Amino acid sequence: MMNNTYKIILSCLALSACKVEKIIHQNPQDKPVIALVADAETEPVTSFDDAADDPCVWVNPTDVSKSTIIGTNKKEGLEVYNLEGKRLYSYKIGRVNNVDIRNEFLLNGEKVSVVTASNRTNNSISILTVKPTGELEEVAAKTITSNLKEVYGLGMYKSPKTDKLYVFMVSKKGNVEQWELFESNAKIDAKLVREFSLGSQGEGIVADDVHAKVYIGEEDKALWKYDAEPDAENNRVKVISTKDLNMKDDFEGVTLYDSGNGKGYLILSSQGNNSYAIFDRITNQYLGSFSLKDGGAIDGTNDTDGIDATSVNFGSQYPKGFFIAQDGANTQNKDSLHQNFKLVDWQKISKSLNLD
Ligand code: CA
Ligand code: CA
Ligand code: CA
Ligand code: CA
Ligand code: CA
Ligand code: CA
Repeated sequence: MMNNTYKIILSCLALSACKVEKIIHQNPQDKPVIALVADAETEPVTSFDDAADDPCVWVNPTDVSKSTIIGTNKKEGLEVYNLEGKRLYSYKIGRVNNVDIRNEFLLNGEKVSVVTASNRTNNSISILTVKPTGELEEVAAKTITSNLKEVYGLGMYKSPKTDKLYVFMVSKKGNVEQWELFESNAKIDAKLVREFSLGSQGEGIVADDVHAKVYIGEEDKALWKYDAEPDAENNRVKVISTKDLNMKDDFEGVTLYDSGNGKGYLILSSQGNNSYAIFDRITNQYLGSFSLKDGGAIDGTNDTDGIDATSVNFGSQYPKGFFIAQDGANTQNKDSLHQNFKLVDWQKISKSLNLD
């Protein structure tokens, strides 16, 4: 059994830049995986096989009931759904794998919501804004070409220190890039500001805009936490390993549920055992896991890639927001359909896992 000091030395030897690695000691107490039933599902994506991947939520600032879900169809582009799951728009912008969104970016003197996606068709970052109707519009000043061999995971970060907007991307080799977005002639341009390595294939990324951290899943190894500022050291904290209780590789989507005042939950798709693990946002202590089983009208999920969560009050159906997950095998009765995304009322999750 290696002690921590020895592990730190090893990581210094293995990587060009010496970095410190800490481990969160999780409570080993047995916590059962609680099976829940989804409340809604989106229409199937337009492509067959493994096509749906990663969702994010645009909260409509003038009418939350007209908010949208933006999902990747990694064979051809972005799809936009309403909260009932009906597809409103689709954009064949290329083989986009992951997608994320941030609000209040100043463009042309107006605050806009910015959507970015890792686009494997031309190995770039697609950059779009959301119109008041929920339609998307490409606004990249040029093709933002990555130095990664193949762009894969993506997550956005808005700095609480500078208000600058960033995009993190990770490749199948585990190399990470951090890009800064900036306005250029009423379009959005980007520049590479930081690079580091996870060690092996990563995908799921979520940044915490309050605590200035970024969580990145190394699919076969662990969920890591890094400092998110572009000038930060590449020291990292291991939140949980794929070998820990209730965890099974691959680690895929990762997201945050924002309870306000810097509190909330970190959620991870533990794809290998078809479950979602929940951690305290501040301490990163493991709180429990849930899965989505078949219900009367809506089937459960398995092999989930991307996930997202919102704490916005959407009215009686989702007063505390919802969790959304990609489903690897979407069915209806006995029929097999194209993949889709499932929505769950957050209250169902918080009650069954005794979250406050
Ligand atoms: Ca998949
Ligand atoms: Ca993956
Ligand atoms: Ca694996
Ligand atoms: Ca994926
Ligand atoms: Ca299913
Ligand atoms: Ca279904």
